[in-house]
Amino acid sequence: MVKRCSLCGASAVTWIPESKQYLCAEHYLEYFERRVLKTIEKFRLLKNVKKLLIAVSGGKDSTVLLYVMHKFFSREINLVGFTIDLGIGKYSRESTEIAIRNYKKLGIEYIVVNLKRSYGFDIDDSVRFRKWIKRPPCSICGIVKRYLMNKVALEINADAIATGHNLDDLALFMMSALQGGKVEELTKLTLYNPSINGFVAKIKPLGLVSDKETLLYALISGLEFYEEECPYAPQRGLRTTIIKALDVAENNHPGFKRYFVLNMIRRVIPKLPKPQGRIMRCAICNMPASNNVCSFCKIRARINEVIQKYRNK
Ligand code: SF4
Ligand code: ZN
Ligand code: ZN
Repeated sequence: MVKRCSLCGASAVTWIPESKQYLCAEHYLEYFERRVLKTIEKFRLLKNVKKLLIAVSGGKDSTVLLYVMHKFFSREINLVGFTIDLGIGKYSRESTEIAIRNYKKLGIEYIVVNLKRSYGFDIDDSVRFRKWIKRPPCSICGIVKRYLMNKVALEINADAIATGHNLDDLALFMMSALQGGKVEELTKLTLYNPSINGFVAKIKPLGLVSDKETLLYALISGLEFYEEECPYAPQRGLRTTIIKALDVAENNHPGFKRYFVLNMIRRVIPKLPKPQGRIMRCAICNMPASNNVCSFCKIRARINEVIQKYRNK
């Protein structure tokens, strides 16, 4: 039997277990947008933001983020898209092209940094020379993204950086940090990270909508996004186990992830001691750093040294 939208009677595209409602395409888009706007309002994510850098990989989350921010805020906020071509073969080529097409379609100003061209190495190099670099690609990639996002945001005087992390990402990061006893990491897992020690503020407007909800929004809206996963995404290990455990909890108790994340953000994280990092400047690039030389400059120097030494091996 065709399910009907609980609000208008049109044919339904989804069931929302938390509110026990069937929704048609039109009401689903409204539901999703309302959730994101409510998150932005409740957590005051755009307070005093006149210029916003939006980190866009070309995947579904950041594409939805770009689209929603443009739809509701492009008149009052100067939005600037930011994409890094990480040099992960076809994945980077195609996702960067999609990001650029979306910027052009929406008429959004944008900046693309090609890691190899600008800094002499890319993520594929870190895999090719892994034997000597001895660090997994995701750890290098994380350093690169954090550094470049902040650098570009400072250069263009952005008041904040928006990232496409969704509810599932936050729930996973929180569980992993709890399991590993990583208190400092936990303190950063909020929807709004204020500007501190030379680092630009960061916001996560999609932090309370799930992976599935974001995908459905992108599909119904007909957005163009890159669908394949990064070839270096970890496929096994503790991360996968935690994802599965969270899905079981969500299936048995609809709304579990949302309550878990909200309780962490509202009741647990505010009680944790705030990180007391010193303000330092990297001796090489002059960007904010927690040591004499920042993690990006260290890893850049190491990879470039290894490339020079072993390029023919
Ligand atoms: Fe980077 Fe790892 Fe994500 Fe791939 S999976 S984009 S290497 S962090
Ligand atoms: Zn409807
Ligand atoms: Zn540096």
